[in-house]
Amino acid sequence: MELCIDFGGSEIKLGILDRGAPVRTATVPTGDGDIERASAAATALIDAVSPAAPTSAGIAVPGVVDRAAGRLVKAHDKHPRLNGFDLIAWADTTFGLPAAVENDARAALVGEISTGSAAGARDAVLMALGTGIGTAAVMDGTLLRGAHDHAGILGGHLTVDIDAPMCNCGNVGCAESIAGAWALRRDLAPRGDAVTDVREMIAAAETGDAAAAALRVRAIRAWGATAVSLCHAYDPGTVILTGGIMRAGAAVAAPIEAYVREHLWTSSHRPAFVIPDRPDLSVLRGLSVLAAENQAARSARANR
Ligand SMILES: [Zn+2]
Repeated sequence: MELCIDFGGSEIKLGILDRGAPVRTATVPTGDGDIERASAAATALIDAVSPAAPTSAGIAVPGVVDRAAGRLVKAHDKHPRLNGFDLIAWADTTFGLPAAVENDARAALVGEISTGSAAGARDAVLMALGTGIGTAAVMDGTLLRGAHDHAGILGGHLTVDIDAPMCNCGNVGCAESIAGAWALRRDLAPRGDAVTDVREMIAAAETGDAAAAALRVRAIRAWGATAVSLCHAYDPGTVILTGGIMRAGAAVAAPIEAYVREHLWTSSHRPAFVIPDRPDLSVLRGLSVLAAENQAARSARANR
C-alpha cells in the first residue's frame, strides 16, 4: 500500500491506496501549519489501516519539482512553506517511508492513464483548470519530464495573447494569467457584486450578464488555445479535462472541444476528450503508482 499526499491549491488530499485503488482517504484545508496538519492527518490514516501498513509514499505539489532532491522548486503564492522544503526527508522522518515527489498535474495524468478515465492511453495530455492551469503529457507511453522536470507541465504558461500584461511567472500573456481561477476572480472583483466565482460567472453569462459573458468568452478562448497548443506540441490521442473549473461540466468542456475542432492543424486527427468521473482521485491514484515504482527502483538499486 502507498501513502499519498496531494498539497492542492485549496485543500490537502490524503489517501492510503493499494496500487491505485483507494483504501481510505481524508481531506484537510490548506493554510497555516499545512505541513503539521498533513502529518497529523496522514498519521491518523496509517493508524486506521493498521495492522496493514503503507510501504512507500507519494507526494504531489502544485509547481515545478526537483524530484531527485524531493523539493518544490517554485510555486507562485501557493504553499510558500513548501518552497525548498525537503519532502523526502519529511516522509522519512515522519512516517519512515521512502517518497516519490511529483508535480500534481503530472501525477493526475499518471492516475488517469493507469486506473482512471483514460486507462491504457499511451499518448495523452491533461489540462487541470483550477486556481492555476496545470498540464502534463505522455507520448509513446513515456511520461514527459525533460532536462529540468519542466516538460509538459507549463502549458498554463504558454502565451495565448502577446498583448496581454505580464504573468506573475515573468512570461507575457500566459493562459493562466487570463483564465486561471485566480485571474478570473481578479477580473470579476471590480464588479463589486455577487459574481466572484468562476461557476457563478458561467451561470451569469447564461442569463444575459454581458460583462460575465465577455469574460467567459475570453476564458474559453484561452483554455481552447492552450488545448490546441498542447495538441500541436504532443499529438495526443486523448485530452483529459479536469480541475475545479470542470465542475461546470459541459458548459466548459463543449466550447473548449469546439475551439479545438475549429483551430487544430487541418491534417491532425481529432483527439478524444475525456472528463474523469472521479477527478478527486486522479492525483492520489497517480501518486500510488509513482510511489510503488519509486520503491521498486530503490529495491533494484539496493540488490545490484
Ligand atoms: Zn505565466
